Amino acid sequence: MNSMNKKEIQLILKELRIEPNNKLGQNFLFDRNIVSKIILKSQISEDDVVLEIGSGLGALTEELIKFSNKLYAYEIDFKLFQYLTKKFSKNKNLILFNEDVLKADIPTHDIVISNIPYSITGAILEKVFYNENPPRGTLLIEDSIAERLFNKNEYKTFSRITVSFNAFMQPLKKYKISRFTFFPTPKIDLALITVKPRDDISQFLLSDAKRKFFLKFVAGIMPYKNKNLVNAISLFLKNEVLGDYSKSDIYNGINNINLAEKKIAKYKVDEIVALSESIFDLIHK
Ligand code: SAH
Repeated sequence: MNSMNKKEIQLILKELRIEPNNKLGQNFLFDRNIVSKIILKSQISEDDVVLEIGSGLGALTEELIKFSNKLYAYEIDFKLFQYLTKKFSKNKNLILFNEDVLKADIPTHDIVISNIPYSITGAILEKVFYNENPPRGTLLIEDSIAERLFNKNEYKTFSRITVSFNAFMQPLKKYKISRFTFFPTPKIDLALITVKPRDDISQFLLSDAKRKFFLKFVAGIMPYKNKNLVNAISLFLKNEVLGDYSKSDIYNGINNINLAEKKIAKYKVDEIVALSESIFDLIHK
């Protein structure tokens, strides 16, 4: 597949009797320039342990194994997994898993480099990055999601994924990528993004229970981003049945950090982390 093009991909899929599965986000990359760009922007060192999610027909895998001494690659589709196993049988630095990456116990890695299945982007970001020691990343994702990760200060894009992601990660660069470099052509616009872990992840997010609470808190208040903060938190606590707190209880709980007045969308990511900590303390009093 060295000079991969659209025809060749179609041919391989036909031979394997694979109908690209939309639910599994099967859009295969066939433009070698994009593959090169992904490699270039990743700045892989030989010692980097690399993770690839959804290897497909191996367009990216094929290059990744040239640049890293160790690559973990996940592919949920058994036919594709078999194809990859055969194709890369000589590459001892590649460890392939025929598993759902969301359920997998992924070995430690330094960088995740993938054209991911777009339909599960949020879940993949959570699994890979919302941890105490996240890896670097170069990912092809849906452009509208990339916008939310990168535009932290814009009302329109400020959302659950903006807050969760930016609490752990620092977005670096974003490049638009044409959807016509994939087969089948996706129905969405795409972006290549590079990201790295923050070196100042809040202490609060370093314990499993607190991190879990933070993610639940963000998911719970962000649907109310137009509401006043105390109202949004009150709704969150009610919806999650976390206890019966009056608005003044909540106000007092967060008063120490002087944050109670604005609408949610006006807060900074780190302020929301601090708020989640105050509410965590309030309900664990
Ligand atoms: N990286 C390849 C394929 C991208 S398509 C390329 O760029 O050409 C996305 C791939 O992810 C598909 O092969 C699909 O089967 C796989 N996939 C979808 N859901 C997955 C999951 N939960 N775990 C692992 N792989 C998954």
